[in-house]
Amino acid sequence: MPELPEVETSRRGIEPHIVDATITRVVIRDRRLRWPVSRAVDRNLPGQTVTSVGRRAKYLLINTGKGTAILHLGMSGSVCILDLDTPASIHDHVDIEFDTGLMLRFRDPRRFGSLHWSKQPLSHRLLKNLGPEPLDDAFDGYYLWQKSRGRSVSIKQFIMNAHIVVGVGNIYASESLFMAGINPRRAAGRIAGHRYDALANAIKDVLGKAIKAGGTTLRDFYGGDGEAGYFQQQLEAYGREDQPCRRCDTPITAIVQGQRSTFYCKRCQT
Ligand SMILES: [Zn+2]
Repeated sequence: MPELPEVETSRRGIEPHIVDATITRVVIRDRRLRWPVSRAVDRNLPGQTVTSVGRRAKYLLINTGKGTAILHLGMSGSVCILDLDTPASIHDHVDIEFDTGLMLRFRDPRRFGSLHWSKQPLSHRLLKNLGPEPLDDAFDGYYLWQKSRGRSVSIKQFIMNAHIVVGVGNIYASESLFMAGINPRRAAGRIAGHRYDALANAIKDVLGKAIKAGGTTLRDFYGGDGEAGYFQQQLEAYGREDQPCRRCDTPITAIVQGQRSTFYCKRCQT
């Protein structure tokens, strides 16, 4: 599933090709995505010029003067930039064509992605209740500490809750907690402020590194399949069950929390 770093990489990959380009036509071959694609998308986009490509959580925001197309990549979706005459394959559900001779193509084999039109995207029902962006200054240890008071949920599930902070997927949660030395089973409400400072910094660091790694794939968005995949980065804890902790040599422990795998060091993470 594309995580926040992959979506941010997609944003950076497509933006230079479509900003200032005018949309000439929208082709929707299959409206049956996670939610049916509204005709408002293909009614409003043609004639509009793209002013910027933004991102909120894992939604790409294709902004125009009239409104915004909100695109979610779902479980298996990807976007790429292609020449207009590139034949479509079975999973290519949406093309947004431009006056530049290029198009933005959305491919999604499992069709869990979505495409909406909105005049005020940040107030859209899918986006309005989301927590802050992890890389924004508004997200810090003090914010997490405040939000966590009185919460008995585990810290791992707490930071994976999109109402608390967006974009901390399963791998990134394990990695951040390892870096911050926090036991993933600890109750969120019982963690001190200075430890939340370390955790917020670890989250920023882990996601920032993944985005940086994604930068090496940016040229793949033109003419390629746009599938950036998971970025190669050294994982400290995730997926390393029974292998020695890189800090203390204790074998890494694997547990299940909220039906998701968690990996941690029983000695370093308290
Ligand atoms: Zn250790």
